[in-house]
Amino acid sequence: MPEGHTIHRIARDHQRWFAGQLVRVDSPQGRFASEAQLLDGGRLECVEAFGKHLFYQWNDLQVVHIHLGLYGKFRIHRLPAPAPRGAVRMRIVGTERAFDLNGPHRCERIDLQARHRLITRLGADPLRPDADWSAAAARIQRSKAEIGRLLLDQSIIAGLGNIYRAEILHHLRIHPQRLGRQVTAEETQQIWELARRWLQIGVKYNRIITVDAETVSKPLGRLRAGERLTIYKRPQCSHCHQPISNWLQAGRTIFACNHCQK
Ligand SMILES: [Zn+2]
Repeated sequence: MPEGHTIHRIARDHQRWFAGQLVRVDSPQGRFASEAQLLDGGRLECVEAFGKHLFYQWNDLQVVHIHLGLYGKFRIHRLPAPAPRGAVRMRIVGTERAFDLNGPHRCERIDLQARHRLITRLGADPLRPDADWSAAAARIQRSKAEIGRLLLDQSIIAGLGNIYRAEILHHLRIHPQRLGRQVTAEETQQIWELARRWLQIGVKYNRIITVDAETVSKPLGRLRAGERLTIYKRPQCSHCHQPISNWLQAGRTIFACNHCQK
């Protein structure tokens, strides 16, 4: 599933390429056809991301909410757009480009109240300047749940996924099974700052990169697939060279070094 950096990158690109334009909206697959008809020809005002959710707002205050889930995918085209490929739920055509959306977990037309309700259920998004980290930090520090679970809980931190949680906990040497209330205030703050820094790097390079530019001695944009991460799916720990353990935590595979992470 795409993590927050991918969703924010999509919002940034779509804002740049489509916002302020009168857009054609269509549902070649048909499942979004009646909604598309109501949006077709209107002015797309802005595109925003909160965590893993995307919101497209029209000038008449109609909103389209998209969550990609596991299989959702956007394809961008230069005009003229080619014939739709596969089950295209929604196609948007602007003045220079078009995009197709296939296989989203959610693609729905909502109003501003529903948008507000969705956003208030989400936790702090490290990529948003308006994020309220103090509430999220307080929840972590009261919690009897494992920190590895808490970092995937979108109502605490919105936008983190399976790769970032493993990388953050390894970098800070916190064992994923430590309980939230056993994580110190200082460590909680470090989790937030690291999440923010790495997600920003993720948006910039459109990839998850958690290695340090100085240790790899090459520009981050030139890293190969196996060089970008330090623990996720790696055989041994980059600090102590012991084998890395993995198990299921909150339904996803977590990777940790039992030697370095206390
Ligand atoms: Zn280690």
